[in-house]
Amino acid sequence: MSNIKGLKCRECGREYPKEALYVCEYCFGSLEVTYDYEKIGEQLTRGSIESRPKNLWRYRELLPIEGKPTDGLNSGFTPLLKAENLAKALGVKELYIKDDSVCHPTLSFKDRVVAVALSRAKEFGFDTVGCASTGNLANSVAAHSAVAGLKSYIFIPADLEAGKVIGTLIYQPNLIAVEGNYDEVNRLCSEIASKYKWAFVNVNIRPYYAEGSKTFGYEIAEQLGWKAPEHIVVPCAGGSLLTKIWKSFKEFHKLGLIPQPRTRMYAAQAMGCAPIVNAIKERSDIIKPVKPKTLAKSLAIGNPADGYYAMGAVAETGGWGETATDKEIVEGIKLLAATEGIFTETAGGVTVAVAQKLIKQGIIPKDESIVISITGNGLKTLEAVQRQIGSPIKIQPTIRSFEEAVKL
Ligand SMILES: *Cc1c(COP(=O)(O)O)cnc(C)c1O
Repeated sequence: MSNIKGLKCRECGREYPKEALYVCEYCFGSLEVTYDYEKIGEQLTRGSIESRPKNLWRYRELLPIEGKPTDGLNSGFTPLLKAENLAKALGVKELYIKDDSVCHPTLSFKDRVVAVALSRAKEFGFDTVGCASTGNLANSVAAHSAVAGLKSYIFIPADLEAGKVIGTLIYQPNLIAVEGNYDEVNRLCSEIASKYKWAFVNVNIRPYYAEGSKTFGYEIAEQLGWKAPEHIVVPCAGGSLLTKIWKSFKEFHKLGLIPQPRTRMYAAQAMGCAPIVNAIKERSDIIKPVKPKTLAKSLAIGNPADGYYAMGAVAETGGWGETATDKEIVEGIKLLAATEGIFTETAGGVTVAVAQKLIKQGIIPKDESIVISITGNGLKTLEAVQRQIGSPIKIQPTIRSFEEAVKL
């Protein structure tokens, strides 16, 4: 039941078999999965999708595995909420939150990519998986590999938030904290992946892994009543999610599931780590790596693997990019909580703050449909807001003490 044709170099177009490959041996471009869309078109209709269980595998035909999905059956199909209160606060008409901070086993969108990566890793026969992570991917690979009975080696920068570390260790993987930033962790993982026969989900099986992000976009289109939004703000770390959301809308259109998307894609990054947004603003084709220094650790990738493609999607759609300072990130987290009751992590703070700026600047118009992508849960980054939200009112267990303290 496979619809995968093979792999293809995103740069020179050279084709490769559908194996555990990720880089073109001629031009060093990255590889992408190709599909038989004609065959998919015969199988996939709005009706067939709607009749399936509410998880990310309802788009199975468009995902790069050969057999039945074996991982992530409880991941995906997260809510798309009409955000009336936040819309009012931002002065816009039609605003939605795609909320990936809930309804996933490890409370971030990374359960999408890991579901696909581990299903594929098992098809390849790997018994050990790994990843280089800024936190959420570590949580997800640890949880999913525990369920799958796979050994795991998970590499993180040593300075991550406690929630990300504890939320990984609880599944008892081999967790390696590297004294260095993500880009150094990633480089180390590339070396380890070439030495050991392990499936590093975002290194040597990255072409398969990355496709999982498309389900974020498919769900939005389905949940909007089979159409793409006019504007979508997406947080960028490596730049893969943004790239794949745009691909998802184009694929749905190609299959006749939605009308021609008129979506503009907007990249959201932290001021202290904005290689993609910098390039967008400079209208440059070159991503200049940066040394990350930001509260938004989950987005702290200074040398983004898919930065070039994310930039391309932004340019192709007539979108733009903007950054948020640490202070604005915290304000963004608080605004989303106060208006919509959603507690997001630092990446969500970046996205809300950036959406707010782009609306204020008139770059996103006030009367068209806007989606804000919330990709992770605030309980994992408590440190970021801890000192900025006041403290509880302490009293003795008496009415008097209560009334004195609260001054009713
Ligand atoms: C990984 C991550 C992203 C960005 O993903 P990329 O595909 O690397 O750009 C966004 N938000 C959160 C919470 C993440 O963990």
